[in-house]
Amino acid sequence: MTSNCVPVVVIGGGQAGLSASWRLQEKGVEHVVLEKHSVGHSWRTQRWDSFCLVTPNHQCRLPDFPYAGDDPNGFMLRDEIVAYVEAFADHVRPPLHEGVAATRIGRIGDGFIVETDTGDWRAQAVILAVSGYHRPRVPRLAERLPARIVQHHSSTYRNPESLPPGEVLVVGSAQSGCQIAEDLHLAGRKVHLAVGSAPRSPRHYRGRDALDWLEALGQYDLDVIDHPMGEGVRQKANHYFSGRGGGREIDLRRFALEGMVLHGRLGEIAEGKVRFIDDLAKNLDAADAAYLKIRSMIDDYIAAEGVDAPEAQPFAPCWAPPVRNEPDNLALESISAVVWATGFEADWSFVDLPAFDGRGHPVHRRGVTVVPGLYVLGLPWLHTWGSGRFSAVGRDAAYLVDHLWEARLSPRLTSLSLAAAEA
Ligand SMILES: Cc1cc2nc3c(=O)[nH]c(=O)nc-3n(C[C@H](O)[C@H](O)[C@H](O)COP(=O)(O)OP(=O)(O)OC[C@H]3O[C@@H](n4cnc5c(N)ncnc54)[C@H](O)[C@@H]3O)c2cc1C
Repeated sequence: MTSNCVPVVVIGGGQAGLSASWRLQEKGVEHVVLEKHSVGHSWRTQRWDSFCLVTPNHQCRLPDFPYAGDDPNGFMLRDEIVAYVEAFADHVRPPLHEGVAATRIGRIGDGFIVETDTGDWRAQAVILAVSGYHRPRVPRLAERLPARIVQHHSSTYRNPESLPPGEVLVVGSAQSGCQIAEDLHLAGRKVHLAVGSAPRSPRHYRGRDALDWLEALGQYDLDVIDHPMGEGVRQKANHYFSGRGGGREIDLRRFALEGMVLHGRLGEIAEGKVRFIDDLAKNLDAADAAYLKIRSMIDDYIAAEGVDAPEAQPFAPCWAPPVRNEPDNLALESISAVVWATGFEADWSFVDLPAFDGRGHPVHRRGVTVVPGLYVLGLPWLHTWGSGRFSAVGRDAAYLVDHLWEARLSPRLTSLSLAAAEA
């Protein structure tokens, strides 16, 4: 095993790690980028075939590499996203080591040792750009399903044809769950959807994409500490809507009218049945309330700024769940597959440093952790809404690299040159 020294090690070769590399190169800081697999791995391997961005293409603002295609208001498909990230890597030309996994990061002196499966690196600073989506989160309840039922997590689901014929249960109604349910529904599959508490968003509203309105409203510059939920917003489910077919809303009530079977949250699997909690009406109402809140924020902005915008169609729920006198059960014999759209868990176990809170999340302010010289980048709401997305990861990378330069490298270089001058 070899041991190398470099001022900065960046871990992760996705859009966040590459953005950090771009900013480090701007400052002339020597560094390496260690990537366990290859550039664009998550986009390539963890998204289904019909996957597309939910954020409009023009919000892809990687540093010095904004989206330059001919459909700025469209939504790139999975393979186009992979190509965009790969093209960004060609543009950045990072000192990239692919196929190298960081297995432990610890302290050595006032710097760090990064152990990998191909040797160790010593560094003054480490930037963790590994996202927070490390392990599929599947409730252990899943173990009680009979072996006959095919199970996928949203990250391994590919397309309706890859599931056996029969009815499918999708568990979870945040962005991935709703989009996968729609994917199956459009393919003519009978879908059961266990609906949770995720909010929903309008798509095109009063002449513009809702996200464009929210940007105009200044929502994307809102610092996490000024958010009504504070840092708690980092754990909140994303609003559901879609970029599919040029972008559209997802109204689960409409799916119900079209034959999708909506249930409340998954409660129990026992006696050959899936039992659902009686909270479907509440969850649909809460999602609509979030949707209407966004609409009214946009309405207020239009009124206050005197913007010339078309009037909105009034909202009226097109379906309501029937009142049940009996618990909502689904016989296991009627389904052939389950897709768990229940999110991911972070696995920071390779970071052997006191940088985490009681729930295992890194403690940081704008990515500057409580361990001097250790940084995180690319996490949801690291600083603003766009931090975990294409839109603001470049801005966060610039902030981190400036901080790193001021706090770690520039004083060191200054003292070295003073020492050299005095010698
Ligand atoms: C389902 C889904 C939909 C999304 N939709 C959108 C969207 O519409 N618009 C948008 O802007 N964003 C979206 N995002 C959010 C975000 O853009 C992606 O999660 C993106 O992949 C994050 O980039 P990243 O560089 O932070 O992480 P990643 O792309 O996950 O890259 C991290 C890299 O780190 C590597 N790595 C991990 N551990 C180690 C280790 N120990 N050693 C070495 N390498 C390691 C991994 O192999 C990986 O390549 C979505 C995310 C998900 C999950």
